[in-house]
Amino acid sequence: MRSLCETCGNVREVRTARSRFLLCELSLTDAAYPKYPPQPVVRCDGYRPRNEADEGEPGDRREDR
Ligand code: SF4
Repeated sequence: MRSLCETCGNVREVRTARSRFLLCELSLTDAAYPKYPPQPVVRCDGYRPRNEADEGEPGDRREDR
């Protein structure tokens, strides 16, 4: 099942050589949200759809070049 976190604007993907973690940035300001929510998350009051502007890192976009 696909997790809400995958499309949430509050998530930050943390990758290591072997694993991938989804860090909920709401956890930084609200103790109700775990830093690494157990996946999959199927319901979340903090969910907000990710904007295209949230995608990638600055400079990642090919049209910027
Ligand atoms: S706000 Fe909810 S859906 Fe969004 S990253 Fe945090 S736990 Fe996942």
